[in-house]
Amino acid sequence: MTTHSLLLLAGDGIGIETMRETRRIIDWFQQKRDLKFNIEEGLVGGSSYDAHGTPLTDETLAQAQQSGAVLFGAVGGVKWDDLPFHLKPEQGLLRLRKEMQLFANLRPATVFDALVDASSLKPHLVRGLDILIVRELTGGVYFGQPRGIEMLPDGQQRGVNTQVYTTNEIVRVARAAFDLAKKRGNKVCSVEKSNVMESGALWRKVVQAVHDAEYPEVELSHMYADNCAMQLVRNPKQFDVIVTDNLFGDLLSDCAAMLTGSLGMLPSASLGAPDETGKRKALYEPVHGSAPDIAGKNVANPLATIMSFAMCLRYSFGLIPEADLLEKAVKDVLSRGFRTADIMQDDMQKVSTSEMGDVLLKALEALAFGEF
Ligand code: NAD
Repeated sequence: MTTHSLLLLAGDGIGIETMRETRRIIDWFQQKRDLKFNIEEGLVGGSSYDAHGTPLTDETLAQAQQSGAVLFGAVGGVKWDDLPFHLKPEQGLLRLRKEMQLFANLRPATVFDALVDASSLKPHLVRGLDILIVRELTGGVYFGQPRGIEMLPDGQQRGVNTQVYTTNEIVRVARAAFDLAKKRGNKVCSVEKSNVMESGALWRKVVQAVHDAEYPEVELSHMYADNCAMQLVRNPKQFDVIVTDNLFGDLLSDCAAMLTGSLGMLPSASLGAPDETGKRKALYEPVHGSAPDIAGKNVANPLATIMSFAMCLRYSFGLIPEADLLEKAVKDVLSRGFRTADIMQDDMQKVSTSEMGDVLLKALEALAFGEF
């Protein structure tokens, strides 16, 4: 039996509560599906600062580097708001992303039938929606040099940022997108502004070359970023995987997230380069933060963290049937009307964080063994 190593970093606030429910799901898979996880747990964010005086210790970083995947909750909270910048909880996450060189950020936008009315778009446009945005995370205009604000001789100021991509940076994120597409709908749409930006023209040329040389079996199309923003709200179901740069990915993934309607339902992943065995460093986390306004009240929606674990099963451990089973169980509890407060609708049954864990475990049992 293969053992999959997994580091759990719950963090702060509702991260602790949503991770607790996710842990119950992980334990179910160990007990009932003959899977073996080598699980370690660590502190990050404010809880790490309280224990060790830093939002991420070198030891925890080393554990993350060595583990098959990291499952992350959320960090932050008012208690730590006045700390100097380098000690703030959020720095723990930023350091993990940087040191693990997680250059591909994956944001799925999946609409569950039961939540179709939560979307800002008409139901027929989003029913069954399942797209994945792959955003380049460590290059482009947020990091390019030169940058800064300078004083001009005439007394004006000038703000400068530089959009810059090298061939290798484009190749590695393109490969990640093609590999992911092969595990889904086998379609990639590459998005840039090659009509007005040289970096975009290079992006298009390199993505096409990677496709032709290594992934001819995947369907590839190209689209300008402004058109992609329109298409996402006009006809989002035309997409399977979208691959794009850091800036456009930032905007387009938030836009796509809103098609699904709820922050408590959105998982994400960040991947690094594959090693010689093809394994990538990976960190999985909900899109939401630590929600100090509801922390400690057992009302947070744990499904974004639980579905981040489903992504981990699929993309890091190659356990596709298990990922499918977990996602099916989530659909099942929603279609039977169970709702945490954030997604509550008329005539549905309101459940707490831990009750959502209970009904999800029951749904897993029923789907796997036909009992309830
Ligand atoms: P947030 O995502 O924590 O909360 C925004 C709103 O959504 C709040 O009203 C919250 O109650 C609600 N919400 C979020 N997740 C929910 C869930 N699972 N179930 C039900 N309701 C949910 O964002 P914020 O309020 O801007 O930030 C709060 C703290 O989290 C800050 O310290 C911020 O820096 C941090 N933060 C951390 C991360 C991260 O760890 N990746 C991301 C964003 C924000």
